[in-house]
Amino acid sequence: MNRKGILVVVSGFSGVGKGTLMHCLTERYGYYALSISATTRAPREGEEDGREYFFRTKEEFEKLIEEDRLIEYACYCGNYYGTPRDYVEDQMEQGRDVILEIEFQGALKIREQYPDALLLFVMPPDTQTLVERLRGRGTETDEVIRARLAQAVEESGQVEHYDYMIINDDLDQSVEEVHRLIDSQHNKINRNLDFVRQIQEEIKAFAKGE
Ligand code: 5GP
Repeated sequence: MNRKGILVVVSGFSGVGKGTLMHCLTERYGYYALSISATTRAPREGEEDGREYFFRTKEEFEKLIEEDRLIEYACYCGNYYGTPRDYVEDQMEQGRDVILEIEFQGALKIREQYPDALLLFVMPPDTQTLVERLRGRGTETDEVIRARLAQAVEESGQVEHYDYMIINDDLDQSVEEVHRLIDSQHNKINRNLDFVRQIQEEIKAFAKGE
């Protein structure tokens, strides 16, 4: 049976730990393809071009938009972020499940273009934990932290558009939960209509005594 790749969107408030979660998921289950986005934000310490992001200038990014090389893009805290089209489409054609770690405006654009996409939202166990994680990261200035908290207020109003939430309390459990949710999508009836029709035809033939 031909297994088609699933497009999975993972969003969550800044500092909720979705990056670590996706990193562990792809390490544990080697067959997930994690899309690398393009962005105009400056690299954080330790980040490398082509690994965490493709770091681009505003002009370079706008050229990608013009040439229709992004399946979605959004402005987040003053910077552009976008998902490269070629990688995502190639991987899905090859039957791999592709994960996009993107914010909600991008998630909604993906839902419009790919109605079968699975939208997951990573939640903190409580708000205090989120604020502590964001401050504890130590890579952001107070101003950036304030902007990201303001963004979280807006994002919290968009959670209803997602299919499932993952409460990221225990990393190991969250990884398993995300994996289970993605895996179960492969068994949805509307993703397996060819197989269902084949069985229907075979049963009909048997019933007729063929
Ligand atoms: P950060 O600067 O912390 O790496 O990312 C900021 C936000 O941008 C996060 O919510 C992240 O999920 C989101 N993001 C990263 N890549 C993309 C992308 O390609 N498209 C969109 N719409 N959001 C993205």
